[in-house]
Amino acid sequence: MDAMPQTSSATAEETLDPLDWADMQALSHRIVDDAVGYLRDVRDRPVWREMPGEVRAFFDAPLPRSPAPIAEIYGDVARNVMAYPMGNIHPRFWSWYMGSSNFTGALGDFLAAIQGSNLGGGNHAAGLMDSQVVDWCKQMVGFPASASGTLVSGGSMANIIGLTVARNTKAGIDVREHGVGAIAQPLRFYGSDQTHFCHRKAMEVLGLGNRALRRIPSDAAMRIDIAALRAAIAEDRKAGFKPACVIGNAGTVNTGAIDDLQALARLAADEDLWFHVDGCIGALIAIAPENASLVAGVEQADSLALDPHKWLHAPFEAGCALVRDAEAHRGAFAVIPEYLESTSRGLASGKWLHDYGLQTSRGFRALKVWMALKEHGIEKFGRLIDQNIAQARYLASLVEAEPALELMAPVSINIVCFRHRANGLSGERLKAFNTEIMLRLQEEGIAALSDTTVHDQHCLRVAIANHRTQYKDLDLLVAEILRLGTELAA
Ligand SMILES: *Cc1c(COP(=O)(O)O)cnc(C)c1O
Repeated sequence: MDAMPQTSSATAEETLDPLDWADMQALSHRIVDDAVGYLRDVRDRPVWREMPGEVRAFFDAPLPRSPAPIAEIYGDVARNVMAYPMGNIHPRFWSWYMGSSNFTGALGDFLAAIQGSNLGGGNHAAGLMDSQVVDWCKQMVGFPASASGTLVSGGSMANIIGLTVARNTKAGIDVREHGVGAIAQPLRFYGSDQTHFCHRKAMEVLGLGNRALRRIPSDAAMRIDIAALRAAIAEDRKAGFKPACVIGNAGTVNTGAIDDLQALARLAADEDLWFHVDGCIGALIAIAPENASLVAGVEQADSLALDPHKWLHAPFEAGCALVRDAEAHRGAFAVIPEYLESTSRGLASGKWLHDYGLQTSRGFRALKVWMALKEHGIEKFGRLIDQNIAQARYLASLVEAEPALELMAPVSINIVCFRHRANGLSGERLKAFNTEIMLRLQEEGIAALSDTTVHDQHCLRVAIANHRTQYKDLDLLVAEILRLGTELAA
């Protein structure tokens, strides 16, 4: 053997590993101690607060060219980053729709990053665990073991995965080879007018265009009007379109309405449509003993999007797409380039997870979900979902009991839409009054709500997907809204 090449002592080899592991260990312990306190005491801090100018300026710092001590860097992060969160881990955060994370999940994210594995493929433990978490998701929602699935960044991606398989299956041609321009009869997809905007983006990115998604009116309960859907399908067939897919909502983002999924499954079978369910909010209600029946039919979907970073409280990001027909799923995404051929043994003998979605490199997002599921068991997650739904019904009862407030939509699960009546103001002035209440609740650090428009009426919106929320938080919310209402009226 040749001698190793001589290295010059003047150019010592470098690495990113710490020069002093003991120092790094001590700092890491401090970070963990701080993290425990951060989560333990979250209730004592404001939900949210505006960043002062000097904190904003911190984010304008130029590209660092020379090193800095890691302890100093951590100090900056603690002061400028950890102190100004979005707030969704706080018990009184109910804006938009997101989960509230959990400590075990954070440890999982840390360990996943320490292992550093890339889950594009390969024969290693992280890949197996990723597939196991997908299998667990199937079991939670009643999908058959033969179904396929993939973990993705979130619900938007999970919906794109499902809708891609729907398009390819219904196109009547090999879309992957020839593109959407070669589709003979333009495809039509259907969803209620409450369907999440990510489906519009999906239609755009799939090359079908926004107009290929027909919005079907929703009824008084904000569920898709099935008769109107049937009529739209018939009309489209007459006009030369090919009805391809119906999107059912298991929990709409505006009000939490759940479409009649069983009726949609029957209709899809009758009309030969792909049945996709957006279950980003509600699919997991299937594990909640008191409310599971609300999502009956979710298990009949051809494809389903669900979101572990919502009601399983996984730290962001974790979504999951399930596809009943495993061949159709793989057929929509698999490509075997010469540099990624599998082998019968060794590292490249595993399942290539990039065959099931759009990413090549993939992070180990399964571990944070897996560890929390193991720690608590699925029954507890189910009870927490029931708890949030019961809390939403409680809030609705407080609103209904309070003459100054008005419930604006039926509460089917965990989303409450309501407004302050503002002594009879109307139109833009009523909206401004309620918006001001919402902003003051945020700025005073009391609670984070969002707002929306339901049946053309502006309202405040509380979405309780939060394992830290307690009934007393909802009592406080109502009391503070009444206080602010009185202050604003004065
Ligand atoms: C949150 C949500 C989405 C989008 O999911 P992300 O995880 O935010 O990408 C889609 N549909 C519904 C009904 C949602 O609530």
